[in-house]
Amino acid sequence: MSNPLFDTLFAKHAGSDRIFLIRPGLDDLTYAAFLEMCARFANVIAEAGLTEGDRLAIQVAKSAEALAVYGACVQSGVIFLPLNTAYTASEVAYFVKDSGAKLVLCDPAAADDLKPVADTNGAALMTLDAEGRGSFADAADTQPVNFVTAERKLDDLAAFLYTSGTTGRSKGAMLTQGNLLSNTETLHEIWRFSSDDILLHALPIFHTHGLFVATNLILNSAARMVFFPKFDADLMLDHMPDATVMMGVPTFYTRLLGSERLTQDQARSMRLFISGSAPLLSETHRQFKSRTGHAILERYGMTETNMNTSNPYAGERRPGTVGFPLPGVELKVTDPLTGQDLPGGQVGQIEVRGPNVFKGYWNMPEKTKEELRSDGFFITGDLGQIDEDGYVHIVGRNKDLIISGGYNIYPKEVEVVLDAQDGIAESAVIGVPHADFGEAVIGVVVPSGEDDPDIDAITSAIAGNLARFKQPKQLIVVDALPRNTMGKVQKNVLRDKYREAFS
Ligand code: ATP
Ligand code: MG
Repeated sequence: MSNPLFDTLFAKHAGSDRIFLIRPGLDDLTYAAFLEMCARFANVIAEAGLTEGDRLAIQVAKSAEALAVYGACVQSGVIFLPLNTAYTASEVAYFVKDSGAKLVLCDPAAADDLKPVADTNGAALMTLDAEGRGSFADAADTQPVNFVTAERKLDDLAAFLYTSGTTGRSKGAMLTQGNLLSNTETLHEIWRFSSDDILLHALPIFHTHGLFVATNLILNSAARMVFFPKFDADLMLDHMPDATVMMGVPTFYTRLLGSERLTQDQARSMRLFISGSAPLLSETHRQFKSRTGHAILERYGMTETNMNTSNPYAGERRPGTVGFPLPGVELKVTDPLTGQDLPGGQVGQIEVRGPNVFKGYWNMPEKTKEELRSDGFFITGDLGQIDEDGYVHIVGRNKDLIISGGYNIYPKEVEVVLDAQDGIAESAVIGVPHADFGEAVIGVVVPSGEDDPDIDAITSAIAGNLARFKQPKQLIVVDALPRNTMGKVQKNVLRDKYREAFS
């Protein structure tokens, strides 16, 4: 009997009195207690009638219990399907229907709205609140603390993870046990995790970053994590002197930099700061280095593949790049039109192949065929290039590419120039419809101080740095860029907002 993912990440901890979760304001949770929680929950899931291959959809606040539902699903062979807590009931309805989930777990406050959704789809509905209580936990109280682990193979599905929906409707990525396990084992090696590590975990656990990258690594290493319900710079800084690693999205780093408490001394026990899910500004990297002495390690991944590239642990962590392909992951840059390899540092679409690459999109055979080649390469939808030293640079998403007057414009190239101007903290460059050019470039900029940046001065300054067709035809000052819960800039929101700018 075996279940590779459960055996490797969970089963080995049964009975261990090592700490798994340090919970601010709550008692620490041992591995033994966590494993018992997983087993109780697996019994509830089985009693609700779910067996291997069925889906459990869960939209609840971050808690140890919510994480144990993941363990329970792996143990019982049920496919784990976590949902962004920001989704409304009507959005959840889509995911429940699309996935054919048999059990929906939600916050008690959402139960009235979601009950009809569950009923319509023939699913059971149970609740779990932010404290880990609710009808699901009640049912678990009377269950035994052991469960006969379902037999699974590496090729069996472990999770449906829906993409963030930054470029369109979210797609359900089918991830196998082998996808998750191979990536965790690789990251364990290259980021040098050990049982001595204490991770600062403030990410959501419905997304690959906080769920699979962070949690699987900790479980694999028998390490600990400080499990914050959400990101709070002060709370994180309180715990930093006891921790060794942090994983965050770029906005965590900019917010930490906004606190005077972030110092070299506060970070004295830390060995590694990792960033991903959205591009980290070179400026943030530089400031963080000068403040703490640490070079943030930026890596690149996505829902469909887990992690693909990483800056080196030892060796230069190059700002503005996402480092090298992970061991076992092949990465190439191809021509979006012909699919042919593009040699020599040219910009093209990034394709990846490896044991980390998903099985396809659930219920979307056409989309799967378009993006997952028969030779196993996945077309990521990101544009990038590989520099002469082998570092991968992401220059934007294929869908954000601007074509103006017949020329291709990669937003990142313009954003880097704008970001370097006096008075600008950050920027987003988009294309909007234009009668003469097809699309025109617009720069949306956020001021770095109280005052608006001097637009005329910036316009003339960038004229010397960028070819005319790349120069924004309009610069718009905003207080903040629209971002989703993972800190990704929502360029589609900006495009909608400014689509009439030239009409
Ligand atoms: P959708 O596919 O539904 O449009 P999404 O691609 O934003 O949403 P995710 O899978 O959460 O959903 O995000 C993966 C994307 O995040 C990558 O394709 C890439 O564009 C971006 N990304 C991740 N890490 C980095 C990074 N270090 N630098 C730049 N972009 C990154
Ligand atoms: Mg995507």
